[in-house]
Amino acid sequence: MDYNFKGKNALITGSSKGIGRAVAIALARGGANVTVNCSSSVAQAEEVAEEIRKLGRKAIVVACDVSDLKAVEDMVKKTVDAFGSLDIFVSNAVYSDRELMVDADMEGFRRTIDVSMWGALHGVRASAQQMLKQGRGGAITVISSPHSIIAIPTAMAYNMSKAAIDHMARTAAIELVKSGIRVNVFHPGWIDTPGERKFFSEEQLDEGARGLPMGRMGSPEEMAHGVCFTLSDEAAYM
Ligand code: NAP
Repeated sequence: MDYNFKGKNALITGSSKGIGRAVAIALARGGANVTVNCSSSVAQAEEVAEEIRKLGRKAIVVACDVSDLKAVEDMVKKTVDAFGSLDIFVSNAVYSDRELMVDADMEGFRRTIDVSMWGALHGVRASAQQMLKQGRGGAITVISSPHSIIAIPTAMAYNMSKAAIDHMARTAAIELVKSGIRVNVFHPGWIDTPGERKFFSEEQLDEGARGLPMGRMGSPEEMAHGVCFTLSDEAAYM
């Protein structure tokens, strides 16, 4: 099902690949213009933008590191310059080093928190500021993880970041609801993305998937349906 996003302008962080890519394309299919963001995979981001343009929508690529607040504010400005407004924001970009807490290289630990926690807050803050300025509401969805609640070993900085952004989103929701800006948190299951393929071999993915309640991993497109629902007018009371 495609939701109706005609006349809406969207920004999705980390949308060159994986879940972010699928959300960007699904929003465009519903009628939205989209800013595609990545930190370094610009060629892949351009391919996503091209796919969106083929659907008859506008798309720009902004390569920037979401851990840099000023760069995120500039990205919001570029979106508004290109499309006229920002109505939909999805915080999706992630970085995660996998290492036991006692052995952790604190550089990787800090980088995980900088991108996955601070990056999410930067995007929510900058997009909310723009939506408040526009004065006609908006929709924000923060992609978190079940690991905000269920701790997995070797991912303490990731687990911590996701727990923090769950509560960041709840607080933002309460602060923004009176202005017509809805904030939701979305927890994907285990999804087959380039990010997961960095950590697991094909064999490990197969074995892990068999142990899931569904008996398989999910696809980015299946997640995009759910994320689009949270951003749609049909979710007006969420
Ligand atoms: P992915 O395949 O690793 O893609 C990550 C995206 O984020 C890429 O576009 C990447 O582009 C971008 N990115 C990374 N660091 C960035 C930075 N500093 N600034 C801007 N962009 C950056 O990720 P995914 O598996 O689709 O996960 C997407 C979201 O779902 C994440 O928030 C993740 O925690 C959540 N999630 C995923 C799963 C799963 O099983 N896949 C499960 C639960 C939750 P570059 O490579 O160019 O940086």
